[in-house]
Amino acid sequence: MEKKLYSIRRRVMLIYTGGTIGMIRNPQTDALTTFNFDHLQKHVPELREFDYVIRTYQFDPPIDSSDMQPTLWAKLVEIITYNYDAFDGFVILHGTDTMAYTASALSFMLENLAKPVILTGSQLPIGVLRTDGKENLINAIELAAACDEHKRPRVPEVCVCFGQKLYRGNRVTKCNAEHFNAFTSYNCQPLAVTGINIRYEHDLIRHPLPTLPFTPHTHCDDAVIAITLFPGLRSDVVEQVFRMPGLKGIVLRTFGSGNAPRRDWLVRAIEHATREGKIIVNITQCQRGAVEMGLYETGHQLLQAGVVSGKDMTVESAVTKLMTLFGRGLSTDEVRTLMSQSIAGELTD
Ligand code: ASP
Repeated sequence: MEKKLYSIRRRVMLIYTGGTIGMIRNPQTDALTTFNFDHLQKHVPELREFDYVIRTYQFDPPIDSSDMQPTLWAKLVEIITYNYDAFDGFVILHGTDTMAYTASALSFMLENLAKPVILTGSQLPIGVLRTDGKENLINAIELAAACDEHKRPRVPEVCVCFGQKLYRGNRVTKCNAEHFNAFTSYNCQPLAVTGINIRYEHDLIRHPLPTLPFTPHTHCDDAVIAITLFPGLRSDVVEQVFRMPGLKGIVLRTFGSGNAPRRDWLVRAIEHATREGKIIVNITQCQRGAVEMGLYETGHQLLQAGVVSGKDMTVESAVTKLMTLFGRGLSTDEVRTLMSQSIAGELTD
């Protein structure tokens, strides 16, 4: 790891956590293996065209993103924090399966971030002829290094760069396990599109107030669960979960604009959990649109029982927001209030 190395050339740090993108085919065995990022230029010679200083850091061992954990989010926060002053931007290579969770978590853990942190990956390994990995990697590096005429970063946010789009990290969802466009962001336009030129949506991009210091957080509290409602969901299952000792936050994935069956047992379970200090956040199972609990009686009953609106947050964002806010040691009232407010662009106020 490097600290305080200044030069005129833009400096990008590339962190490889694992996933398909870092794989090449072993010509002897024909099997896919992880390549050594010290030899990155050998495998992606196009990177020589950049006039950037690119340094790499590789997880040892690299992980399939299904094995991602809050402790590894903390490790990413530590790497970025240690190298924050020495680099203009960071690219994280990550498996696609849980990339939306990592991007969401990092957006809350890197408070007042003033530099780009761009996650990317690929559907085909970088060592395969038709790979999408090279384009995603090259776009991500360019976006991480991009600055305006005053040398200010163009996108000082945690983002996901995939399939020619740059998305806000806490708005994405993996929507396709097969196509190159693996991600989408249903409730927020892409922050940039990488066509012949890179087209930025300047009005959408968030810039922290220069007076606010970069404040990294490394603690997550995993006393959180997400429950998807469906017709026929059993009362005893819900009651058991809601009464679970030690549980602090429940993300309730409701129907439509935030509706749930009108059942006394459900209202009682919510009221009881709320009295115990648990926070229940309502998000919709619909991909587009937001929770509006005042719209129907079936939603209003939840509001009255103490449920908090998660508005148009994704499940990835709602879960990691609860984990990271509890991890900061905030009080129940503070977490309740913040869950309905945008703190990193994760919901539409
Ligand atoms: N299972 C892999 C992972 O998420 C898939 C990928 O790399 O896209 O790590």
